[in-house]
Amino acid sequence: MTGKTCPNCKAELKGKYWCSHCKAVFKCPLPGCETDITKPGAKDCPRCGLFFEDYLSQRKMYRCCPKCKKKQGLSEQQCRSCRHWFNCPTCGDKIPANTLLTCPRCGTGLR
Ligand SMILES: [Zn+2]
Ligand SMILES: [Zn+2]
Ligand SMILES: [Zn+2]
Ligand SMILES: [Zn+2]
Repeated sequence: MTGKTCPNCKAELKGKYWCSHCKAVFKCPLPGCETDITKPGAKDCPRCGLFFEDYLSQRKMYRCCPKCKKKQGLSEQQCRSCRHWFNCPTCGDKIPANTLLTCPRCGTGLR
């Protein structure tokens, strides 16, 4: 017994990444990312973009486009349907908003 309980549903936690009872994610389960998920009920990782629902149920590594909501492979840098950039093609930084026309870090044009 770990003694840790889920802050969401109070079930006992079996792992450090997510609650198997209510599916709340606390830490991104992607190897090498493991970002702490501070936003309760987050559907994807703020750092790598992993869409938790499909990973938890079938270990599928998808990301969900914030703009058109289409799911695609996590390795994609740009949405295949609406051409929204997930990550900057130059510096690799995550693009935080879908209205940005340039990368806030290096200034690369995103269109
Ligand atoms: Zn829970
Ligand atoms: Zn992540
Ligand atoms: Zn899209
Ligand atoms: Zn950049």
